[in-house]
Amino acid sequence: MIEVRIHRRAAERLAAGHVWVYRSDVLGTVEPPAGGVVQVLDSRNRRLGRATYSSKSQIALRMLPSEVDVLDTALFRRMFRRAQEYRDLVVGDTDAYRLIHSEADLLPGLVVDRYGGWFSIQTQTQAMEAAKAAVVEALMEEYEPTGVVERNDASGRGREGLERRSGVLRGPDEAETAVRVHGVVLKTDLLASQKTGLFLDQRENWRAAGELAAGRALDCFSYHGGFSLQMAGKCESVLAVDSSKPALERIRVNARLNDLENIEPFEANVFDALSDFARGRRTFDRIVLDPPAFAKSRKHIEAAGRAYKEINLKALALLDPGGILVTCSCSHHFSEADLLSAVAQASLDAGKRLRVIERRTQARCHPIALTVPETHYLKCLILQVM
Ligand code: SAH
Repeated sequence: MIEVRIHRRAAERLAAGHVWVYRSDVLGTVEPPAGGVVQVLDSRNRRLGRATYSSKSQIALRMLPSEVDVLDTALFRRMFRRAQEYRDLVVGDTDAYRLIHSEADLLPGLVVDRYGGWFSIQTQTQAMEAAKAAVVEALMEEYEPTGVVERNDASGRGREGLERRSGVLRGPDEAETAVRVHGVVLKTDLLASQKTGLFLDQRENWRAAGELAAGRALDCFSYHGGFSLQMAGKCESVLAVDSSKPALERIRVNARLNDLENIEPFEANVFDALSDFARGRRTFDRIVLDPPAFAKSRKHIEAAGRAYKEINLKALALLDPGGILVTCSCSHHFSEADLLSAVAQASLDAGKRLRVIERRTQARCHPIALTVPETHYLKCLILQVM
């Protein structure tokens, strides 16, 4: 096996439990094979473990479990079984969940989402891209699924020098499917959708919002209605706001599918809609804010802070005492402390006191690897106006 030596500071990072080595910390002049599995050595030639190598990404090495020397079907079958055991323990009342969450399932660069009989995969590194056939084969052998699609159309592919594509790898051409999620049915097209179909990382937050639902609800950035559908059963009305027409069309379909007649899809820019509601003195009992990531990288944190504060301020203006705000951030770079601070500033400006009902995160099927902070990205605060 090809050996790659790394700088002392990178070895220290690995000793602290991280699994990435940056390109600037790779020593030596011999270029390992792109997407290969290599042996990592410290500067004194001690073996630190195996890793996948990328010839393009700033993250040159991603550590693998120590026993791995090849990414083949047998390995993926073994890893899928382990991952499934964990999901059997922590996921309930749904047939849609993430089976493999990259580093947090010891398979860096691989994401596998399950939608009932379908699987949707993302191979985000050169090594996982090279192992794609083995990944698909392992899924076929373990699960005998209806089909497997790839959603390798995210921008991150460029960093690995990989082309963007999506499509069916196995099974029928039409990858439309309906899944059960905590008492409701959601239909989605696994190829023509954002993410891999649904925002499965919000699944448990949908349920938490549903448990506390009442009165008139406003679901901002509603997408396919994950929050709306969970809340509608307990609400007089749910207004689902999104700027995407196809997303709102999906909400209509999903509402009908679940016999829910009190969900109204509304096409608008959320920032404008919230201002209009304030001008019209319209109030709500429950408001969900689930915007797209405002902080795509570290240098956007300040601007993101202002955007999160603004949107939370606008929402708080529409909530009376007793009202509940569910407010989310999916930017890894914007921490929970940052979000708490933005909402606190908004509450002061709005002249409203809030109590924190719950501080939540991504669903358990998207586990957080304790010593890999980048695997924690979703924050969801549930607050009540006192
Ligand atoms: N809440 C959803 C996921 C939201 S994803 C769920 O739990 O499933 C973010 C959504 O925000 C996308 O559907 C996108 O179309 C929408 N969006 C982005 N910017 C927007 C804006 N300024 N106004 C309204 N919708 C917006």
